[in-house]
Amino acid sequence: MATMMDTTNERPRHPEKEHKPDNEMLRKPSWIRVKAGGSKVYEETRNILKDDSLVTVCEEAGCPNIGECWSKKHATMMIMGDTCTRACAFCNVRTGKPVSLDIEEPGKVATAVKKLGLAHVVITSVDRDDLKDGGARHFVETIRAIRQKSPATTIEILTPDFLRKDGALETVVAAKPDVFNHNLETVPSNYLTVRPGARYFHSIRLLQQVKELDSSMFTKSGIMVGLGEERNEVLQLMDDLRSAEVDFLTIGQYLQPTRKHHAVKNFVTPEEFKSYETIAYSKGFLLVSSSPLTRSSHHAGDDFNRLRSARELSL
Ligand code: SF4
Repeated sequence: MATMMDTTNERPRHPEKEHKPDNEMLRKPSWIRVKAGGSKVYEETRNILKDDSLVTVCEEAGCPNIGECWSKKHATMMIMGDTCTRACAFCNVRTGKPVSLDIEEPGKVATAVKKLGLAHVVITSVDRDDLKDGGARHFVETIRAIRQKSPATTIEILTPDFLRKDGALETVVAAKPDVFNHNLETVPSNYLTVRPGARYFHSIRLLQQVKELDSSMFTKSGIMVGLGEERNEVLQLMDDLRSAEVDFLTIGQYLQPTRKHHAVKNFVTPEEFKSYETIAYSKGFLLVSSSPLTRSSHHAGDDFNRLRSARELSL
């Protein structure tokens, strides 16, 4: 199978993966079945996003839940362009040299959130290591613009790690998003092959710092399984996240976008996901979502309400 091409200018979508050998793509098991798109509401969602040329992680990452989510007008917007400065082995987002920031993007995102009528929105971004603040101010502008147009909408951000960007985290936390999500993606032993531009303990520390800066802010992190991790490593990762007082853990099955991406090593069964969920709750997470099709932003609005209720109950 050929590497995916950028259809707009025919350059490879992932130039850094061009030289890599093909990885076999395993056949998906019966428990990974996704809802097809194409409903009337799905098309409405698509048109609202297209009107302002907004980028979504739903499309860019090839999310398997897009048919379900967009049919409920749930979409996760990806700000700061469609090109990432990192080159993670699992990710389908285009890599390369990004374009300059669109200063009108925060306003466009806010307009789309209003048109979609979202009670809860998840905003994520590509990694922008080229920017002095890693894009922290752009996150803040986007949060402000949404609050101005839709004051009742709760806001969840899913951020990059702002590695070596002094003050970036503080800037974003000061804008008071309702949920601060930063994904670990995988266990530390996989970092060199799966997430080579990132540092596991930097990500843990980032989540811990969010709580130190604002103890009332909900924190969330997620991983994919099926990347060759050992069960005990997942349990250790849970402990690391609890040491950083992370509230909400998501665990989902890694799906391989193309033959050039990291191979799926195994498909974790629904029973194993359930077992991870039980163990994670026993370790003190307020909320856990662990299933084959769990993704960071899947059912994020409902989960936010459950998160709030769980905190109230625990007080
Ligand atoms: S799970 Fe998240 S990324 Fe996937 S389609 Fe739904 S909103 Fe988009």
